[in-house]
Parts: sequence; structure tokens; C-alpha cells
Amino acid sequence: MTEQPNPDLTAFIAGLPKAELHVHHVGSASPRIVSELAERHPGSVPSDPDALREFFAFRDFAHFIEVYLSVVDLIRTPEDVELLTYEVAREMATGQNVKYAELTCTPYTSVIRGIPIEAYTEAIEEARRRAQLDFGLVLRWIYDIPGESGIPAADATLSYALEHRTESLVGFGLGGPEVGVPRPQFKSHFDAARAAGLHSVPHAGETTGPETIWDAVRVLGAERIGHGTTAAQDPDLLAHLADHGIPLEVCPSSNIATRAVETLDVHPIRAFRDAGVTITVNSDDPPMFGTTLNREYEIAADLLELDAGGVAALARAAVDASYAPDIVKAELGAEIEQYATAQRA
Ligand SMILES: [Zn+2]
Repeated sequence: MTEQPNPDLTAFIAGLPKAELHVHHVGSASPRIVSELAERHPGSVPSDPDALREFFAFRDFAHFIEVYLSVVDLIRTPEDVELLTYEVAREMATGQNVKYAELTCTPYTSVIRGIPIEAYTEAIEEARRRAQLDFGLVLRWIYDIPGESGIPAADATLSYALEHRTESLVGFGLGGPEVGVPRPQFKSHFDAARAAGLHSVPHAGETTGPETIWDAVRVLGAERIGHGTTAAQDPDLLAHLADHGIPLEVCPSSNIATRAVETLDVHPIRAFRDAGVTITVNSDDPPMFGTTLNREYEIAADLLELDAGGVAALARAAVDASYAPDIVKAELGAEIEQYATAQRA
């Protein structure tokens, strides 16, 4: 970043109603939430807020994994799952003015730690209903395969999605490391999920080249791509994404934290825009990468040199690329429009 954010645009972004499409359940646990979980389960993680904030401060990718796994280990009961989900929803709605979110959940990591999928599903659903009533936030789920756990995790995640399905489950994803985890091995899982009406939204091209994104599109039937950062290296791929209306879920600070991109100045978001690819702006694992969704919009606005109207169009693109119910899309689209118009007046 070469310039300070424009204060007017910062305020505009803070008040802008938003949809978020790429944000992880456990990765959204803030120090405040983790402190509550650590009080329930003393030992491994400090429950003192100051010590926790220090533990959370992003140092490098290895430390991020350590923080992430320590939070996974604090989620031991269905009550923990419900607390995490509800409190994440509170922070999205009250801190970032998010009105609709597709939260990527990894039920496999909780089930192998002893929470039955029935109880897990009930817990996130209860949190979803309460969050909608209390904060007006509409939540939907994407279940993702933790790629590093291979085919057994994929089999299990597919069975949770199909045999324990709720109406709020909209997508099927694939996360974890990309290196050494070829996308095509999960073809049958994505085929089955898509046949059941779930949307295909794998991560691809974050830390591997454009061929992984081609695999995601051609083999896994990807309808949106998580990150897709290296698409910028392949003009044919960019043209394909643009022609087929396959949006990218862009998470700038995450890309810097994981070193997928060296600096923000060289982030390929401009190349995506220039190629006509739909860009959505997202936060990925915000507290763990020291960011917020508002901050990610500020970064995108800076890189793309957007004014308020351009930022509102970005917010609108996320609504259009979402799998929200039609009524939610229409209402949120209108809300964004009204907000932008009122700010112009
Ligand atoms: Zn992600």
C-alpha cells in the first residue's frame, strides 16, 4: 500500500451493507471468542484477553497454523460450536455490516474430535436461527473437505452434506494446502454433491499454478473459485472465467499472509478486473490474518482506484455471485443501491 486510505471512503465502506462469500468458521474466531472458549476449557490457550491478542498477532504462516489448530482443539462440544458460530455472526453483523454470509465450515475436524455430525448440524443451525433473529444476518453454509486429510475426509464430508443436509447448506468446497493435494482426486465427491444441487466452490490457484484452477473448473465443475490468484498467469484461463461467469473470491490480506502474493502492490486483482472476471472481496480468516472485511474492501478500493460507486458495485457483485435466496439477493441489492444513493446526495 502506497497511500493512506481516504477517510470518506473508509466511512462509506464501514456503513455499506455487504455479503461475504469466502470466510472460514474456525478462522473467524476472534481473541474475544477464543477467550470464552479457553475459559470453558482451561489449559492449552491463554484465556487472558491481552495474552490472547499477543498469541493471535500474525507472525508467519506456521504460527497461523498453530493458532488455527489451537482454536480447533478448543471446540469440544456442540455448545462450543454454537457459541463460535453465533459470536462470529455477531461480529460480522455488528462490526462489518455483513447482511449475508456463506460461512465455510469444516465439520470433519469437529467430528473426528468427538462431536457427532447430528449435534454439529443442530448447533450451527441453532446459531444461524438466533443470529438471523438477533442481528438480521442471513447465514448459509459451505462444507469443505480439508484437503490434507485426503479421501477419508472427502467421503465423510460428502456424507455429512448429503445425509445430514439442511436447507441452509448451499455449497461444497475444498480447502487446506494445495501443494501435494491434486484437485482431480475429489472428482466423484464433487460430482455427487453437484448432482444433489450443491454449488461447487473449491479453493484453487492460491499457492499452485493456473493448472489447479483449470482442474477445479473442468474436473470439479467449480462455479466460483476460492482465491484463484494464479489465474493472472494464464490469459486463456482469465478469458474462460470471464466468458463463463465464474467469479473469484479474492482475499488480499490472506494472500500476503500466506505469501501467495509478495506485496499488495503486485496483487493480480487489477488483471482480473481488466480481463472482465467477476471479483468478490472477502476476508478468509480475518482475526488470524489481522484484517477485517471492511479493511479488505479498502485495499481493493485502493488497488482498483475505486470511488464510492465502484465500491458499491463490488458489494453488489458479491450479492450477485452468492447463493442467497432470491428474496435476500433482491433486498440486499436494493439496500446497497439505497445506501450508495443516499451517500451521494
Ligand atoms: Zn479460504
